[in-house]
Amino acid sequence: MEKAVREFLFRDMNGCTDGNCVISGKRSGMHTNGGCHCIQNLGRAQLNILASRLMVIADKKIDFND
Ligand SMILES: [Zn+2]
Repeated sequence: MEKAVREFLFRDMNGCTDGNCVISGKRSGMHTNGGCHCIQNLGRAQLNILASRLMVIADKKIDFND
């Protein structure tokens, strides 16, 4: 079963309550709008995990506009 890239990259990481949290995704219902700072707030250990996960998908092909 295919899953969102988000689920792979941020597995076992907790997002915030922002309505557009990078980790949690778009949230309807109760949420805040102060902006998500989850990436900025990641600790060194979590950044290392994220880097290794990015390496896994970095060469995969996706459509995007330059
Ligand atoms: Zn967040």
